[in-house]
Amino acid sequence: MKTIDIIDKIENTHIASKPEFAYLLQYITDEELEILRKKAQKTSLEHFGNKIYIRGLIEFSSVCKNDCYYCGLRRSNKNAVRYRLSKEQILSCCNTGYKLGFRTFVLQGGEDAYYTDDVMCDIVKSIKSDYPDCAVTLSLGERSKESFKKLFYAGADRYLLRHETSDERHYGRLHPEEMSLENRKQCLFNLKDIGFQTGAGFMVGSPYQTYETLAEDLLFINELKPQMCGIGPFIPHKDTKFKNEKKGSVRLCLTLLSIIRLMQPDILLPATTALGTADSKGREKGILYGANVVMPNLSPVAHRADYSLYDNKICTGDEAAECIKCMSGRIKSIGYEIVTDRGDYKIRKKDDKNVQI
Ligand code: SF4
Repeated sequence: MKTIDIIDKIENTHIASKPEFAYLLQYITDEELEILRKKAQKTSLEHFGNKIYIRGLIEFSSVCKNDCYYCGLRRSNKNAVRYRLSKEQILSCCNTGYKLGFRTFVLQGGEDAYYTDDVMCDIVKSIKSDYPDCAVTLSLGERSKESFKKLFYAGADRYLLRHETSDERHYGRLHPEEMSLENRKQCLFNLKDIGFQTGAGFMVGSPYQTYETLAEDLLFINELKPQMCGIGPFIPHKDTKFKNEKKGSVRLCLTLLSIIRLMQPDILLPATTALGTADSKGREKGILYGANVVMPNLSPVAHRADYSLYDNKICTGDEAAECIKCMSGRIKSIGYEIVTDRGDYKIRKKDDKNVQI
């Protein structure tokens, strides 16, 4: 099968086989990638117009009990600076964000036992009570189904949990033995089952990754059908055992964004900060390849640099207002615009009626 036929197949049936995905990722030419990009951009425009949703990212804890080999926040990194934000500090970030037009707050942190269910539910309830027109997204790692339920009933709307790779052996080479892909996947299915708008995702170009493991990731996305999918190039961190590994390819990441847009036309697809770090125009390119979400940072500037998942992360020095101004300008420069909107996942029916979840 020719690569161009695989692109047509994905556009028409929203899926391909594992060998087809792997072949496409490996052999797509620049001309074919441009064809794929145009199809993905057209699909994104049909579903979202030129509107880009913004999410205000609040990195509230740099403490983590896990030891993922690629991550600067992993517990065994003695050089990491650890901090925790109080509820008042988090609410202050929301206050700043609300005035700047954010209607989604993403609370992201390491797996930090300090933030028990009670602590997190209290924070979520306070945000929802102060900002009832806003969505709250959580990204706190793996928890029990009971814990997810409590967070959901406290008012959280969405949950991000990247699976990072859906190949068992590959997962084992990126994580210590006590972590399991099976549990991670189960968490994702639990989140969907509870009713969260659920986000999965993976790194592109992580050590030991192959075109086949990436094809496996696409098949998993097709199986889970998440409402959101975050992908970004792997970027090494100086205090990890992968410090000398090559960073992931921006081209490959963009190719995958376009493929995912064609697989799930409605999906909320961010142009990630990692993409913007790997390429100074990465987020703009991400949008042109089918992404429709950006996540500017609302965390207090004093702590930004300490939330160091990978090296040279962008936007660690600017106040939130500067970030949004910069982001608006970037997005305008490619003919799109930022909107003040919760930006929920919408199921679109053929008769054009939207059902929001
Ligand atoms: S990737 Fe997430 S879970 Fe793993 S060490 Fe880093 S912060 Fe913790």
